[in-house]
Amino acid sequence: MVEPRVGDHGPAARLAGETEPANALAPRSDDTPFVNLRDPARTLGPDGRPAVSRRAPIWADVPDERWNDWRWQLSNRVNTLEEVERVLNLTDDERAGLSTPDKFRVDITPYFISLIDPDDPNDPIRRQVIPTDCEHEAFTAMMEDSLAEDRHSPVPGLVHRYPDRVLMLVTTQCASYCRYCTRSRIVGDASQNFNRHDIEAQLDYLRRTPQVRDVLLSGGDALTLNPKLLESVLRSLREIPHIEIIRIGSRVPVFLPQRIDDELCEMLAKYHPLWVNLHFNHPDEITPEVSRACDKLAGAGIPLGNQSVLLAGINDCVHIMKALVHKLVENRVRPYYIYQCDLVEGSGHFRTPVGKGLEIIEGLRGHTSGYAVPTYVVDAPGGGGKIPVMPNYLISFSDHKVVLRNYEGYITTYEEPVQYTPHDQANCRYCQHPRSEPGQGGIAGLLQGDRLWIEPADFEQTHRRGNVAPHRLQDPSKWVPYGVGPIEGKAAKERAGLPLPGLEPGSNGRTQLDADAYAPGEEPRPREGEPTGWSHGELL
Ligand SMILES: *Cc1c(COP(=O)(O)O)cnc(C)c1O
Ligand code: SF4
Repeated sequence: MVEPRVGDHGPAARLAGETEPANALAPRSDDTPFVNLRDPARTLGPDGRPAVSRRAPIWADVPDERWNDWRWQLSNRVNTLEEVERVLNLTDDERAGLSTPDKFRVDITPYFISLIDPDDPNDPIRRQVIPTDCEHEAFTAMMEDSLAEDRHSPVPGLVHRYPDRVLMLVTTQCASYCRYCTRSRIVGDASQNFNRHDIEAQLDYLRRTPQVRDVLLSGGDALTLNPKLLESVLRSLREIPHIEIIRIGSRVPVFLPQRIDDELCEMLAKYHPLWVNLHFNHPDEITPEVSRACDKLAGAGIPLGNQSVLLAGINDCVHIMKALVHKLVENRVRPYYIYQCDLVEGSGHFRTPVGKGLEIIEGLRGHTSGYAVPTYVVDAPGGGGKIPVMPNYLISFSDHKVVLRNYEGYITTYEEPVQYTPHDQANCRYCQHPRSEPGQGGIAGLLQGDRLWIEPADFEQTHRRGNVAPHRLQDPSKWVPYGVGPIEGKAAKERAGLPLPGLEPGSNGRTQLDADAYAPGEEPRPREGEPTGWSHGELL
């Protein structure tokens, strides 16, 4: 049961001696505690209780207490064709995928499979966990261990690739299994699991390697580890003085949010500074249960990040990604990376060209909060580490190859997919209803002659085409003047049909409204104590 959050906005929270503000924002006279219903972790369902996600009909009779018990969820995972078929209406491709004997492991929590639309074969959650026949198709440049992790492991399960940090694989088990898993060579395979002896060897290496200041616990999924074993690993790491930060990479909050309970969070909080990176690929994965799990982790003082994998047919769309990053920041999760899909066996049908990732970043940067824009990276095939797809690192696009350099200067190539089915915009609800950007002409507007705010010197005199207004002010729906405070600049005032009051002349004797007449570099600066209500654009 989630307690409604009580804000500290009541009269009691006021500081002694503070005067009553005389406006509509003054505290209300009653003592009603403030309940922040905008917080996604406090979302209520139609019955007035904390909201819950859909449950597939076959589990309708399971008592809530069991359904919300992570142990019940883990032991009732669905893994055979017969079981999956009781929940979803399968396609022939999926039936073939599920019937293959040597396939990458299938195991899906009842909670997660319930989120899938049983009749939609393109459901983005379904595509991530239900195998199809495509998994068996080979592609050029495909590798079993595409990041050469095994070659960079001084002891089994410890990948030491970067100078100051290591990836520590503590288990091969996950709460459910992603079809595109980069570590499918070992993940899901209980016979390849790491035992206490292996973990002790990893710790021993770390004790003797003082350049390591950052340890990333992964697997598999470290949060599926037996809680006592997980705690003993964390404690052993914290006993090594040169280890500054510990990070856990986990999909448990996505597949099994029930696992994130108070007991776990209290335990994790003992080992700060501890960061957790989650792995969401699509906004549909962020349910009320997930919001509460993120809230608990953040409440334990754990900074949360997210890494997504760019996947054809799942999230290769600017509008889907924008909806995802918005939901993430609402849940106090900072988008960290978007990964290009690795060249790993079984993932050929998920691969997109690198240009798709660039398009997504371009659709985010500037269009939304900087907090919501992740870094787009290619994990270098062959093991050079993560390379951001940006100038300095992106050397060239050649025929079906992207040439990149890593942080050390090594050059590597990423082989582009030969076959890529572009995103189906006509059937994408996010493309059909994109978030609007009122007043933004975008690139198309600029090409039609809208003026950018920042122009090169002399642009005004030599290039001005007619009386073209700065593009942001062409559409009045972008900025509605409310009559609060001065409206900045001459052009804005003229357009808003307001009188142009004579402002105090500046130190050089001219008024702000003469700004258009200034030569570049000669623009007046506000004097000390003067309001700085000008945007750069109005100065030009
Ligand atoms: C991803 C990764 C890390 C962490 O990299 P950051 O860019 O610091 O997040 C460390 N080691 C290995 C082997 C990795 O794959
Ligand atoms: S949760 Fe991570 S390790 Fe586990 S199957 Fe998915 S991608 Fe692989």
